[in-house]
Amino acid sequence: MSTIVMKFGGTSVADLNIMQNAILKIVEEVKNKKKVIVVVSAMGSTTDHLVRKVKEVSAIYDAREYDAILSTGENISASIMALLLQNEGINSRSWQGWQIPIITTDNHSNARILDISTKNLEKRFTNGMQVAIVAGFQGISNKNRITTLGRGGSDTSAVALAAAICAERCDIYTDVDGIYTTDPRITASAKKLDKISYEEMLELASLGAKVLHTRSVELAMQYKVKVRVLNSFKKGSGTLLCDEEDMMEKKVVSGITFSKNEAKLTLLGVKDKPGVAGIVFDCLSRANINVDMIIQNISDNDLTDVTFSCPTDQVDMAKESLEEGKKNNIIEYRKLDVDRQVSKISIVGIGMRSHSGIAKKMFKTLGDENINIKVISTSEIKISVLLERKYLELAIQSLHEAFELSKV
Ligand code: ASP
Ligand code: MG
Repeated sequence: MSTIVMKFGGTSVADLNIMQNAILKIVEEVKNKKKVIVVVSAMGSTTDHLVRKVKEVSAIYDAREYDAILSTGENISASIMALLLQNEGINSRSWQGWQIPIITTDNHSNARILDISTKNLEKRFTNGMQVAIVAGFQGISNKNRITTLGRGGSDTSAVALAAAICAERCDIYTDVDGIYTTDPRITASAKKLDKISYEEMLELASLGAKVLHTRSVELAMQYKVKVRVLNSFKKGSGTLLCDEEDMMEKKVVSGITFSKNEAKLTLLGVKDKPGVAGIVFDCLSRANINVDMIIQNISDNDLTDVTFSCPTDQVDMAKESLEEGKKNNIIEYRKLDVDRQVSKISIVGIGMRSHSGIAKKMFKTLGDENINIKVISTSEIKISVLLERKYLELAIQSLHEAFELSKV
């Protein structure tokens, strides 16, 4: 009897009525004689409420208690789901992270999974359990405290469990039909992809597509887990994540993604000498700034400009750390320019490795719309640009058309 993992996100378990859709899908798999491990998120926006509660009590909260509180959302949905399945006559039991156990680092609120023992689960399956409902997003550290895996982390719980138990598949049920060429709310011509390579999905997830937790894609790629993204409210084949070799035809560009709220910071008049960039970015990393794109201009009279981008909500911290650095004579610069009104758009595709002219086509398309590009960065399979936020939709629509993504 093979095992499958089914993960249901917050919108798929939002209330008892909605949960019935999940119950139907689970019952179907049980009828197919599968051992089923269900991983659940917290109901609806429960986790957001819990975060607010923590912040209400304490502005600089203890991360161990934050995790203990946040993990409760998933405990509730897991037990409710187990009861609903029992109502259907199915032998089901809820499992919290520590009961499996899912061992993680003690990096609270962003812990990483170190090990999953499947012994306890296997034993219960042998003794008649048909469905195990596992609370996603949580684990236990080797210091014996509850941890959480970072927002959106129940995808990672699901893929990690699928890898640990060598599941036949890991189906991620959500509120959309699968992975799209871009956000359908921006372009009606966005198309659902039947397949996407792990590598492309990894880029899309880390560049802003919110469908899957980035680390779940990393794990799927590493352990070759067969992941499908499906709609819990409909029937359909969803999108399959697979190896590059399993893609019949490598499209040059598979998807366009974006991150709306970005900021661009420029340090003007920085000394052009060894070690300076190291000091600047050391300051920023100490302030925990998530620096993304970086450019340094050619120097004039031994002075240069350094530009970087970060999420808008980190700008004040970044500014503060650089101004503090200047005050304490750690960094020298003439002026700090901040632009909070930018967005990042990225095009992603494994076919870029073997095709030339993609950057040209992207820049020309934006140029034809009179959209100015502020910063560019590339990797082997993606090109990202920073542009004025007011052009975000227009840019995505014109790139979607230029790369003929509605024809996939
Ligand atoms: N409930 C958690 C969150 O909202 C984890 C998840 O849904 O994946 O971030
Ligand atoms: Mg999610």
